[in-house]
Amino acid sequence: MIPFLPLKRINAEFEPQLSEAIFKVVKSGWYLRGKETENFEKEFAEFCGMKNCVGVASGLDALTMIFAAYKILGKLTDGDRIIAPANTYIASIMAISKNNLIPVLAEPDESTYNIDAKNLSSLLTPKTKAILSVNLYGREADKENLLKFARENNLLLIEDCAQSAGIKPYGDAAAFSFYPGKNLGALGDGGAVASDDGELSNLIKTLGNYGSEKKYINDYLGFNSRLDEIQAAVLSVKLPLLNEHNKKRNEIAMRYINEIKNSNIVLPKPCTQNTWHLFVIRSKQRDALQKYLFEKGIETIIHYPVPPHLQKAYNGSNLIYGKLPITEKLANEVLSLPLHQAMSEEEIETVIKAICCFYTL
Ligand SMILES: *Cc1c(COP(=O)(O)O)cnc(C)c1O
Repeated sequence: MIPFLPLKRINAEFEPQLSEAIFKVVKSGWYLRGKETENFEKEFAEFCGMKNCVGVASGLDALTMIFAAYKILGKLTDGDRIIAPANTYIASIMAISKNNLIPVLAEPDESTYNIDAKNLSSLLTPKTKAILSVNLYGREADKENLLKFARENNLLLIEDCAQSAGIKPYGDAAAFSFYPGKNLGALGDGGAVASDDGELSNLIKTLGNYGSEKKYINDYLGFNSRLDEIQAAVLSVKLPLLNEHNKKRNEIAMRYINEIKNSNIVLPKPCTQNTWHLFVIRSKQRDALQKYLFEKGIETIIHYPVPPHLQKAYNGSNLIYGKLPITEKLANEVLSLPLHQAMSEEEIETVIKAICCFYTL
C-alpha cells in the first residue's frame, strides 16, 4: 500500500536528533514556558519574516486567540462579521464563531480554491471588520487583492497558515498549526501566532497563560494554550529542513502536473507560492476514482467531504452565506493524492501510472 502520509517514515529522517532533543528536555526538568519554546519562537518569527511569534497549543487555539485578542484590544466586538472561505477546514470558521463573531462565507475561485477577491465587495457591510484568509492546500491566497481590499475597507487581514508553513505571511496576524500531519509537524499538537504587532503578540501570550502575565495575577479570562518544551524542541530540529522538504514536495507536484494525463481529471494549477501541503485533484467520478486507486494500493483522502455550512455543528445557522455552488461542487469532486518529501521514485511513478489508466464510461 502506498500510504497517504507515513509519519513514521517522515520523522525517521530526523533521527537521532529528534530523540536527543526530547531526551534533553526530559532530563532538564523544565517542561513549559522555558528555553526551548523561547528559542523556537525566535526561530519561527525569523523564518516567517515577522517580528513576533507566540507558541500555542494548536492551530485552532492560534486562530481563536487572535480573534479574542482583537476583541480585548477593541478592534473587534461581538456580532462583527468576518469574511472567510466557505471551503476551508471547519477549524477556521469555528475560531470565529467561538468568539461571538459571525463568519460570512465566501466562495472560492474555482481554479485556485482560495477566496475569490472578486466576490469580496458584495459581502461587505458596515459590520464587516476582518477577512480570514486561508492558504488552502498550501497555496498562497490572492495576496495583492486581499491586502488591497483589506486596506481600502479598513479591515483586519488575518491569515490561517495552518497548511502553508514555508510561505511568508503578510497580514496583521497569522496562525500556524504544528499538527503532526502538517508540513512542519510536531509529535503531538502545537501551533503559533506570528505577527509584527507586539501588543497583539504579548496579549496572546498572556491569554494562553490563563490571562496572566504575572504569576497568580489574572487580567483576562484566558486559555491554557501553550506550546510545550518537548514540542518546541522537536520543531527546532525540524524547522531547518522545512524549506528543503517543501522544495521536494514541489518537485513531486510538478511531476504529477506534467505526467498525469487523464482528461477526466482536473489537476491543480502550478503557482510559485505553494507549500503543497496537499495535492488535490478533481474528478466528476471522484468516489469511483478513490475506490480504483485503493484497489491499486494507493491511499487517498478527501479534503473536505462536507463544508462547514452543511455540518451539524452549524445546522446552517450562525453563519452568513448565500448560494455556494462552487464550494459544494468542490466537496463532491476533490481528492488528495499522497505527496510528501519521503516518497520514493517508485511510489511517485505508481501514482502517476494508476491515474493515467483510470477510465470511466
Ligand atoms: C489543521 C488546520 C487547522 C487547525 O489546526 P490544529 O492544529 O489541528 O488545531 C486550522 N485551519 C486549517 C486550514 C487547517 O488545515
